[in-house]
Amino acid sequence: MSTDLDVIIVGAGVAGLYAIHKLRGLGFKVRAYEAGDGVGGTWYWNRYPGCRCDVESLEYSFAFDNDLQQDWRWPERYGGQPAILDYVNHVADRFDLRRDIVFETRIASALYDSDAALWTIRTDKGETVVAPYCIMATGNLSTPRNPDIPGIDSFKGDWHHTGLWPHEGVDFAGKRVGVIGTGSSGVQSIPHIAEQADELYVFQRTANFSLPARNEPMTDARERPHKATYEERRIAAYDTPFGIAGYPPPTHSALEVSEAERNRTYEEKWAQGGSISFLYAFNDLLTNKAANDTASEFVRNKIRAIVKDPATAELLCPNDHPIGTKRLILDTNYYETYNRNNVHLVDIRSAPIEAITETGIRTADGQHYALDAIVFATGFDAMTGAMKEIDIRTDAGADIKRKWADGPQTYLGIMMADFPNLFMITGPQSPGVKSQMILSCEQHVNWIADCLVAQRDEGKRRIEPEPAAEQNWVAHNNAVADATLYPLANSWYVGANIPGKPRIFMPYVGGVTRYKAKCDAVAANGYEGFRRA
Ligand code: NAP
Repeated sequence: MSTDLDVIIVGAGVAGLYAIHKLRGLGFKVRAYEAGDGVGGTWYWNRYPGCRCDVESLEYSFAFDNDLQQDWRWPERYGGQPAILDYVNHVADRFDLRRDIVFETRIASALYDSDAALWTIRTDKGETVVAPYCIMATGNLSTPRNPDIPGIDSFKGDWHHTGLWPHEGVDFAGKRVGVIGTGSSGVQSIPHIAEQADELYVFQRTANFSLPARNEPMTDARERPHKATYEERRIAAYDTPFGIAGYPPPTHSALEVSEAERNRTYEEKWAQGGSISFLYAFNDLLTNKAANDTASEFVRNKIRAIVKDPATAELLCPNDHPIGTKRLILDTNYYETYNRNNVHLVDIRSAPIEAITETGIRTADGQHYALDAIVFATGFDAMTGAMKEIDIRTDAGADIKRKWADGPQTYLGIMMADFPNLFMITGPQSPGVKSQMILSCEQHVNWIADCLVAQRDEGKRRIEPEPAAEQNWVAHNNAVADATLYPLANSWYVGANIPGKPRIFMPYVGGVTRYKAKCDAVAANGYEGFRRA
């Protein structure tokens, strides 16, 4: 049993890596545990064809070291998975992070001993390790979920989940392939699989909005001015709703301009590519349904113009949620792919999948689709799944599964009442998934690092939120979401993709500016809302 650590970190994705670097620099003894055999988290596991970040690469990168951000050359406007994984590996080597990571090891349980003021962590290898503080850097979209469709075990072909893709890749040449799911992972992979496969059947339950990414090789014209002002941009990013600088906030409602001007604006944004620029077309797209309808209809008309078969186009037109209330997808040639002769859209809303057979998929209308391979692009038990998979308890009787039985409860998405000295990075009720994730990871790590220094300097051994502060934050999180159109969508933001998961709006959508100001004020006021001893 090891007892000389200050902090145990669970996960070696971007959050865990920065936590190692930051805390080590402050003199804390840290050790991270990682299930994979390499660093990168999301970018380690999601290796499906076409996997690419939907935030531009000059933004989606670490800000903590100016030499790093000046030295690194991104090959494309948006980082593809291999390029991002190369970058994360470079960061791990450059800052010598691997020596404090134990790979191929999952954390099975975490138990807090109040008298000793220590967390005892047990690994799946049977190792036990203790430390006063534990940081869950376990990710928001790290628990892949296959739907419970009868017959999967009988299928004689290959099947893969996009979030657990084989490292050696999958060859679809000459195959009949079925993709289930049309979220970001499905929409990104479908054009690539269509190019390889003999026949591709896309099993769509709900159509989603997708915008063109307009990815392209990195140009000097894009890179040089960005790097010339990198540090200012990184600071400015904290004063924006989504943690990304460079997009002037919109000043007009979509309803106070003429139809011609509105469409001109949408056309301009559509041509630029990217989701923030589109959602920033007007200031009420996420708060006013009538305003949002104009943007939703603009994109539906684009789909109708791109997809040649009118019946297929209509099926691809989302009509059950306002645009932007589910994660807006960025694609390259998604809708165009349906003009290929080898691609077939199957509407499983009207005829659901009944079973997977030895040779394919059977739907409720009696059709059988013969398949050699199935791709599950069916998503994740988002935001709470990874932590609930660990048996997290305290000797005072707290248990994460009970605590979050009706949805997550946190203070600032950083800590939970009754779980002393246990931190989360970009936990539920923080902006994490509604922001540039690396910025939010850095903000949380910096806040936690300051907090641990304060604990050390003031001779304190224990910190946890006051229950009232937590309840107020949960209520605030819900109130902020209820003032928007977000709760109207059946998204993973509300747990709708997991049968039986409580419907609670999980991310904080009050914006990065407001959130960071609150975190900073809490710290400046002596960790207001926290009990410390
Ligand atoms: P997702 O958005 O949750 O989409 C899952 C898809 O699977 C949906 O179309 C869903 O249909 C379908 N599905 C789930 N269960 C099903 C069932 N039983 N039968 C039929 N269809 C089923 O998951 P994701 O595409 O993996 O994306 C998750 C998130 O990861 C994204 O929103 C994004 O934040 C992140 N991500 C980002 C990128 C990027 O940066 N570009 C790429 C990939 C993922 P319903 O809608 O009907 O439930």
